[in-house]
Formats: sequence, C-alpha cells, structure tokens
Amino acid sequence: PTPGGPLLQVERAVKTFGGLRAVSDVSFELRAGEILGLIGPNGAGKSTMFNLITGVNPASSGVIRFAGQDVTRATAGQIHRLGISRTFQHVKVLPELTLLENAMMGGYARGKAGMLASLLRLERREEAALQHEALSQLQRVGLGAQAYALAGNLPLGQQRILEVARALVGDPSLLLLDEPAAGLRYGEKMELVGLLRRLRDEGITVLIVEHDMELVMNLVDRLVVMNSGEKLAEGSPPEVRASPAVREAYLGV
Ligand code: ADP
Ligand code: MG
Repeated sequence: PTPGGPLLQVERAVKTFGGLRAVSDVSFELRAGEILGLIGPNGAGKSTMFNLITGVNPASSGVIRFAGQDVTRATAGQIHRLGISRTFQHVKVLPELTLLENAMMGGYARGKAGMLASLLRLERREEAALQHEALSQLQRVGLGAQAYALAGNLPLGQQRILEVARALVGDPSLLLLDEPAAGLRYGEKMELVGLLRRLRDEGITVLIVEHDMELVMNLVDRLVVMNSGEKLAEGSPPEVRASPAVREAYLGV
C-alpha cells in the first residue's frame, strides 16, 4: 500500500456475545504509516475490536480488509503471516524465560499455550532462524545486550518494550498495541513513546489502545473513539478534544 493510503479497512464491524453487542457497526480506516489511537472507557469494545482485526474472534458481521485483501474470516495465524501483529492487554512476558525466549514466541501470535506448543515443535534449523530474528528485533528496540537475562528481572517499562520486540518478530507492517503504557512510570512512558515514533518512522503502522490521554494526544496522528461498542468520534487530537459527544460521554466535561 502507498503511504497515506488505507492499510486496514474496518467496515460496519459487529461482534455480539449472546445478547451483548461488544462492537456495534463500527467503521474506520487505518492509513499506511500513521499512528491511530483507539480510545474509550472500559467495556467500550476496544480489545474486542483488536480480536476481530487479528482473527482471535470472528466478526458477527461486517468486513475487514488488510492491504486490500478481505481478512474477515482469516485465522489468527493467516493474519499474522500477512503482517498484522499485536500485544495483548493481559498476556504479558513470561518472567522465567529469557528475553530472547520471550521474543522468539513472537513467531506465533496465538496466546500463551499456543505459542509454547509451537515453539516446542520447531525444527533445529527453524529455531536457529527464529532465534536470529528475535535477537535482531531485541537489538532494534534497544534490549539486545540483555537477551540472555530473565524477563522477570526487567523493570516493567522494559518488559513492555520486550512485548513490542516480540510483536515485531515476523516483520509486521501493522502493529496493534493494547494498553502498552498501563502501570508505567512517566519516564518509562516517554521511552515507549520514543520507540513507537521511531517504529512509525521506519514504516510500521500502529494502532494503539491507551488510557493515558496525555500520552495518546501527544503520540497519535488520529483517533477513533468508542463507547458502548459504537464509534463515537474520529479525527485529529484537536478535533476529538473539541467533539461535544466525546466530551459528554467520555471525558465527562
Ligand atoms: P475494552 O477493551 O474497551 O475495555 P472489551 O472489548 O474488552 O472492552 O469488552 C467490551 C464488552 O464485551 C464488555 O462488556 C465485555 O465484558 C464484553 N466481552 C469481551 N469479550 C467477551 C467474551 N469473550 N465473552 C463475552 N463478553 C465479552
Ligand atoms: Mg481492553
């Protein structure tokens, strides 16, 4: 896709769980080379939207296109191989494993058990190739020197950066980050912001869910706001800040 053209297109996406519409008729586009923020209160449907895009859950209806290709019914593995990678809100690094071992799991974006199982089935040659790539992604994010340290010994901010390195394995063109700055100290947040800007400048398109409004407003090019499963607003940070619907429903002012 050309820079500035649509990389990801979500068209009228719906996801129901029983009677609950977790995502209700949401449409938006992600342009190649931009950082798009997805914000909204707890329960708005942000993580569910990530699950639809990455094939963790199939959409109940609607269409999702990546680089022009319909991926609405694609599996998580197929979507990962096409170039969409993510971090999970609740699946964090495995503390008893080294940074390198953690990063190697990025070869498999299927949740903890699936990743471990896949890792155990690797051939020697594949394992060496994966190790090589994982190491180069650790170096890319500035964690190369600590490749053989245990992930659990890292400060939280570096654990989050390790999660980004893990997601970078496989060289995705689109990175989805689900609340990567939650619980981080100010300095750690700034480090993460610096890394995400650099990755964007290296050509990676980023979709980020984040609650820290100051961080989001400073980082993103555009925002999509969700509330109760629906899209409430979309636009640049100043446009979203000025939106009466957003102020009322989300910012509470
Ligand atoms: P957010 O990430 O914006 O906080 P979620 O996407 O996690 O919101 O959740 C949106 C709504 O969907 C919530 O009401 C949540 O309880 C519900 N939900 C999410 N996943 C499931 C699931 N697997 N089964 C049933 N309900 C779910
Ligand atoms: Mg969430």
